[in-house]
Amino acid sequence: MNDSIILPEGLTKTAFAKAVEAFRGVVGADNVIVDLDRLVPYAKIMIPEDEKLHQPSAVIIPLSVEHVQSVVSLANQYKTPLWPISTGRNFGYGSAAPATAGQIVLDLRRMNKIIDVDPEMCTALVEPGVTYEQLRNYIEERKLPLWISFPSSGPIVGPVGNTLDRGVGYNRCGEHAANFCGLEVVLPNGELVRTAMGGVKGGSAWQAYRWGYGPWVDGLFAQSNLGIVTKMGLWLMRKPSASKTFTAVWNDLEGAAKGVNVLRNLRLNNVLENSLLGHLLYGVACDVPRNALYKGPGAIPDEVVAEIAKKAGAGIWNSLATLYGTEEQIAVNFKIVKEAFAPTGAIVLSEEEVGPNPVFQHWKGNMTGRPDLSEFGIYNFRGGGGSAWFAPLAPARSEDFKKQVELVKTTLAEFGFDYLGGFLIGGRHMEHVCELAFDRTDPEEMQRAYLCYDKLLQVNAAAGYAVYRTNTAFMNKVADIYGPAQKNLNRTLKRALDPNGIIAPGKSGIFV
Ligand SMILES: Cc1cc2nc3c(=O)[nH]c(=O)nc-3n(C[C@H](O)[C@H](O)[C@H](O)COP(=O)(O)OP(=O)(O)OC[C@H]3O[C@@H](n4cnc5c(N)ncnc54)[C@H](O)[C@@H]3O)c2cc1C
Repeated sequence: MNDSIILPEGLTKTAFAKAVEAFRGVVGADNVIVDLDRLVPYAKIMIPEDEKLHQPSAVIIPLSVEHVQSVVSLANQYKTPLWPISTGRNFGYGSAAPATAGQIVLDLRRMNKIIDVDPEMCTALVEPGVTYEQLRNYIEERKLPLWISFPSSGPIVGPVGNTLDRGVGYNRCGEHAANFCGLEVVLPNGELVRTAMGGVKGGSAWQAYRWGYGPWVDGLFAQSNLGIVTKMGLWLMRKPSASKTFTAVWNDLEGAAKGVNVLRNLRLNNVLENSLLGHLLYGVACDVPRNALYKGPGAIPDEVVAEIAKKAGAGIWNSLATLYGTEEQIAVNFKIVKEAFAPTGAIVLSEEEVGPNPVFQHWKGNMTGRPDLSEFGIYNFRGGGGSAWFAPLAPARSEDFKKQVELVKTTLAEFGFDYLGGFLIGGRHMEHVCELAFDRTDPEEMQRAYLCYDKLLQVNAAAGYAVYRTNTAFMNKVADIYGPAQKNLNRTLKRALDPNGIIAPGKSGIFV
């Protein structure tokens, strides 16, 4: 074993070597990695912190639920913490690396069976290693009339990891935390539990009814460290007979702010079932390197953005949504949409009116079951491999939209970073998702990005906002913002279910 390996906290080298031998006895020698070269992909992060702070001691790659149960039992015996990942591509939130150094990554990618897809009930049951692309291919090959909901990083990431981190997608089932149904979980003591209707022997309602009987515990396993999810039920969208993606465009913040109230109301009336409102620069950044747009000091100024918009014939704020249903329903709903947007000064354009436009096509694909990788272009914008998503949550109101833009844009600019943001309007709430892009190869810029993210948290907290999800560098700080009572409750649950602190110490700021 290499001398520079970072051991789990409190373990001697000898004890760790014994644990590794025991794990190898369960999953096979090849599926326990301690070789530093092979650990590199698991240690690589994009967030603004030193990799050493998140360096895993080892990786275990089980093949079955029984493997996971045995590994968890051994982890309790040897006191080796396990950081579970499903497809491990949590880019900009910590990637595959653990919250603290020395944890063993439990990589579930070999557990990648699609156990069931039911086209009548519009449900699926999958293992953690299943990717969205895999699920989509399965559906396409069988010509099933179903669409999956996936995040913008679509093909290569997966529903179990995304949903457990409360990720978002873009069709009728886009709020993933509200569209999973039934979990199978290995608890920290190695016991296996199926939640909700999954406890009923011989039953077939596991993926049909979320709530089961008694306390609803499924939420305990999302953004948490109280178990390892080994199966998840998903709700899928029935493929509609028709769909129509459109955009509503504003060049002023006031108009877009009015648009937020309209989008909220259209969602609350079920006219719209998805909607986003993005700033022009986010879409441009997926396609064009920064130095082709601006070479001056500081963040890209508003005048330059206005110039880019003018040249591209685009709006500064662009909303996209898709109507689903029959042609008749869509015609009626599109009329309602256009009338609702009229007082905001929006220009509403159909696909035909927009013409060929890669950004429009990407979001249309996101809303109609066609994932692509085009948004990864954002990593070429500034270059240098640094990425941290900053995602405050706010009520879907005009005033909050304006406050959010002001707070986040000003703070980013204070540190010399560009505003690359947009809002996912989920009905009553909106996620303000902003990419903090920076050069990880420049130590000064990385430090600046860290301080910027920290300040973003502070100014948002002072105004009553908090992020709904964060990266592994800031989990403790975000837990503090949610207050001591929630922290104490989480710790009480952790101590009761995982007294040895085996599962993912530090996830969401929760320790034993
Ligand atoms: C260009 C780009 C666009 C993106 N767009 C979106 C977007 O639209 N929406 C969005 O939500 N995200 C988005 N992301 C962020 C990220 O890529 C996705 O959220 C992705 O789904 C997370 O990675 P994963 O699916 O591989 O999950 P994983 O990395 O496998 O899991 C995420 C976390 O969940 C926990 N976890 C995973 N599996 C288990 C398990 N079996 N048991 C217990 N806990 C577990 C772990 O804490 C893990 O760190 C984007 C990223 C990029 C780069």
